[in-house]
Amino acid sequence: MKVLVAVKRVVDYNVRIRVKSDGSGVDTDNVVMSMNPFDENGLEEALRMKQAGVATEIVAVTVGTEQSQDTLRSALAMGADRAILINAEEAPEPLGIAKLLSKVVEQEQPQVVILGKQAIDDDSNQTGQMLAALLNWPQGTFASKAEFEGDSVNLTRETDAGLETIKINLPAIITTDLRLNEPRLPKLPDIMKAKKKPIDMVEAASFGVDLTPRLEVVSVSAPEARKPGVIVANAAELIDKLKNEAGVL
Ligand code: AMP
Repeated sequence: MKVLVAVKRVVDYNVRIRVKSDGSGVDTDNVVMSMNPFDENGLEEALRMKQAGVATEIVAVTVGTEQSQDTLRSALAMGADRAILINAEEAPEPLGIAKLLSKVVEQEQPQVVILGKQAIDDDSNQTGQMLAALLNWPQGTFASKAEFEGDSVNLTRETDAGLETIKINLPAIITTDLRLNEPRLPKLPDIMKAKKKPIDMVEAASFGVDLTPRLEVVSVSAPEARKPGVIVANAAELIDKLKNEAGVL
């Protein structure tokens, strides 16, 4: 079966985020970018499906700018067979991304689409669910284990109440949680090989879907700086501070 994996280029999780001085967004100039960590889990799962003989072809897809080729090259180095870059100068909202991905699904006819449970830049946690709705496909979100069996998959989902196992029929949408697997680091020969693998580029506008934004970002602000802590000498001083300074006792 063919597996489509959606990968997004985001500010690397180690980077200290800087908010633009006009409050219009996050500064991404000269900042290290990388593949959204949950998408690395998605790709790793697809690679394991291929190793297990369940998947035959893995296609990585991203919606972004030409710079997103870096992310696709990383996906190809990890082991994806080919990649699709949907070029969109203005980053679409999750609904727009889901609409574009649904068109790719129509063209590519995968049996499984794997997305991250959320992108760490917008924390939307919407795209996979919207894609499932647009395609009218079953979905298993926040997957921490996936076992394929013929035309269905048993998915273990991480919920607040514990682990839930569901069985869904293919074709299906899966969104990943971090505990699904440990993504591999590509080796140098794989990075070299990835340079020769194909990336198809297509303009977002060519899909004829409505990408008009429905949300307006009013402002973006950095979280308040935390006040420095105080080291107390003993329990008596702690209780005194809690009573007389913090007013919590
Ligand atoms: P979100 O709904 O924005 O939190 O994103 C959830 C998941 O949707 C991500 O982990 C990706 O797998 C996928 N996704 C979101 N934006 C993009 C994009 N621009 N290109 C490719 N995949 C995306």
